[in-house]
Amino acid sequence: MTTFTIADFEKAIDITCDTVIANEKYFSDLDGLAGDGDFGTSLATGFKVIKKDLPEIDKSAIGAMMLKISMICSKHVGGSSGPIWGTGFMRAGMVGKGLEEVSYQQLTEMLGSAIEGIVARGGAKRGDKTLLDALWPIHDKMQEMDGSDMGAVLAAITAEADKAIDETRSSVAHRGRASQVGERSANTPDPGIVGVATILRDWCKAYGVDYTPNARELQVSSVKDL
Ligand SMILES: [Mg+2]
Repeated sequence: MTTFTIADFEKAIDITCDTVIANEKYFSDLDGLAGDGDFGTSLATGFKVIKKDLPEIDKSAIGAMMLKISMICSKHVGGSSGPIWGTGFMRAGMVGKGLEEVSYQQLTEMLGSAIEGIVARGGAKRGDKTLLDALWPIHDKMQEMDGSDMGAVLAAITAEADKAIDETRSSVAHRGRASQVGERSANTPDPGIVGVATILRDWCKAYGVDYTPNARELQVSSVKDL
């Protein structure tokens, strides 16, 4: 049976830090198409702290590590993203409380709990064009699969996030800063959804899982090339 250890989480978080830091400008420029252009910088500011602190932070249990990461997000990730990502890690950590490893089912539960927390915090609904429109189908897909082939799971959930970019691009944002510009947010991607998809695409690369991106946003690294 597949299990995920503290070291597995540490590696995945470390890859995530590298992705967020590398895409700081790109994610901010994507946000600037309809929002205030701070998403990449907000996220990167926090993930630079996570990257720096990761070797030292409490790794006595998965929950303890997630809680610490949650606290860094709340403190250092700016804008509306801080409370969202902070809540997500905190709620995921509650499922991993005291555990040195989790099963695939528990991993799925961690995401489900993170989603519930983010919904409670921000009140977004399906189709509101927030990062939840990527997280919900990812969670659904994880529940459908049994986790016996994690390469297949990773490719499948990356495809869900990739698809969410296209499915939400034409809709108007109803939550977050982009909602304030109304119609102008139509025909621009949601940077949070692109962020989730980009992180997963990089997990595929790091874990040697073949994945060919579909959405244009995953094929370029600058808004000039969109
Ligand atoms: Mg913004």
